[in-house]
Amino acid sequence: MIHSPVFSDTITAVSTPAGIGGIAVIRVSGFNSIDYVKAVIPSCQLEKPTPSTRFCRIPDLDDVVVTIFRSPHSFTGEDVVEISCHGSLYIQNELLRRLISAGCRLARAGEFTSRAFLNGKLDLIEAEAVADLIASQSEAEKNIALKQMRGGLSSELQSLRDQLLHLTSLIELELDFADHEDIEFVNRGELKALAHTIGQHLIRLTASFSAGNAIKNGIAVAIIGVPNAGKSTLLNALLGDERAIVSEIQGTTRDTIEDTLFLNGLRFRLIDTAGIRQTSDPVEQMGVERSQKAIETAHIIVEVVDATKPEFIPLYLKNNQRHIIAFNKSDLAQVSDNAINKNNKSLSVSISAKNNDIAPLCQALTDIGQNMTDSNDVIISNARHYEALTRALEAIKNVEKGLTNNVSGELLSLDLRDCLTALGEITGQITSEEVLGQIFSKFCIGK
Ligand code: GDP
Repeated sequence: MIHSPVFSDTITAVSTPAGIGGIAVIRVSGFNSIDYVKAVIPSCQLEKPTPSTRFCRIPDLDDVVVTIFRSPHSFTGEDVVEISCHGSLYIQNELLRRLISAGCRLARAGEFTSRAFLNGKLDLIEAEAVADLIASQSEAEKNIALKQMRGGLSSELQSLRDQLLHLTSLIELELDFADHEDIEFVNRGELKALAHTIGQHLIRLTASFSAGNAIKNGIAVAIIGVPNAGKSTLLNALLGDERAIVSEIQGTTRDTIEDTLFLNGLRFRLIDTAGIRQTSDPVEQMGVERSQKAIETAHIIVEVVDATKPEFIPLYLKNNQRHIIAFNKSDLAQVSDNAINKNNKSLSVSISAKNNDIAPLCQALTDIGQNMTDSNDVIISNARHYEALTRALEAIKNVEKGLTNNVSGELLSLDLRDCLTALGEITGQITSEEVLGQIFSKFCIGK
C-alpha cells in the first residue's frame, strides 16, 4: 500500500509539446512554487489570492501570463503555478534555467500526474486515463478516456470492492470464532449470489477489452479479395490519394499496406492485403502469409468481390470478427442480394471504388464501429486493467466453486482476498513502487 508522502521539493517542466509554438506553458508544482516563481518574476503580485491569472513582465526576457492554483485545489494537490510564455525555445529554456536556480528541480516523466495520484487527487485508473486522453486521436478514444478520467470505472470497481470487503470481513470474523463451530455470520447462499453477480460484472468488463483495445489502437480492417477485385482502388478511394499501386497485372500488391482512416469519430486501421492466391514467387508468398495474419487479427474484414465475376475467399471468422462483402464495380454489374450466403456476422454492400461511390461501405464500417462503443457501460482499454480483472474473475470463480463444494471459511477468505487485491491493484489502492514507476514512466515530461 502506498502512503501519501509530503514532497519537500518543488518540480518544474514545460508542459506543452517540445518545439516552437505560439505559446508554451511551464508548470511549477510544490510547496515552494509561489516563492520560486516570485524569485524569477519579482514584479508579479503572486501573494494576492485573486485574480488567479495575471499578466506579468520579466523585463529582460518576456511578457507572460501567470496562473496560480492554490493547494489543494490544483491538479497535483500542491501549490501549482503555470507560466504561459511566448513559444521560443530560448525563452522556455531560460525560464526553466531561472526556476531551477531559484530552487526548483526538473520534473521527471509523468511526475505531475504521479504527484496527483500520490496526493489522492486521482486514482490510478484516472491517472492512466489522463495519458489516454492526451494520446486520443478520435472521438471514440476520447470518450473512453474521458469516462475513465471522470471516475466511471473507478466507481464501478469501488462498489464491487466494498461489497466484497464487507463479506470478507464477516468471513474472517467467523474464523476468529472458529471454536464455535455453528457460528456463521455470512449466509452462504447470499455469498454465492453475490459472488455470481460480481463474476458477471467482471465477465462484462473483461469482455469489453476487445472493443476498448480496438478503439484505443484503431479498429483493424483487413481489405481482402482475389487479385483485381479492386482492393487497392478501394483503399485509394477511402484514403483519398494514390496510396496503393493500382494495376491490371495480377499480384501488383505484394505486401500489406496499412493506413489510418478517420470516419465519423472513429479511427480505423486499414490493411490492404496482397491478392490471396497460390503462388510460387517467394516474395509474393511472404505477402500472402502477411495477408493471412492480417485477416486473423482484424476486427472487421472487408472482402472486395468483383461483381462482374464474383469469387470469394474461404474465411473462418473468429468470435467477434465482422465481415463486410463489398461488391465492387457496381458501374459494370450488380449482384442480387439473394446470391449471397450471409450470416449474422456478414453483411453486403454494393460499391464502385473507381467512381468513388463507396458511401454504403463507409456507413457499414461506421455502424459496426459505433456498435462497439455505443454502450453506456464502462469499457476497458488498458491491458494492465484487463490482466488484473482476469485475475479477479478467476478468484471470484474459485469462491463460487468453493461455496458449491462447501469449502472452509479459510479457503474462501483466501480467494476473496485475491479478488480484492486484484481489484485494488487496478485503482492503485494496492500497488507497488515498481508498478507505479512503470506506469508513470510512460508519460512525457511535463505531464
Ligand atoms: P486489386 O488487385 O484487388 O488491388 O485490384 P486493383 O485495385 O489494382 O484494380 C484492378 C483493376 O480493376 C484496375 O484496372 C482498376 O481500375 C479496376 N477497378 C477497380 N475498381 C473498379 C470499379 O469500381 N469499377 C471498374 N469499372 N473498375 C474498377
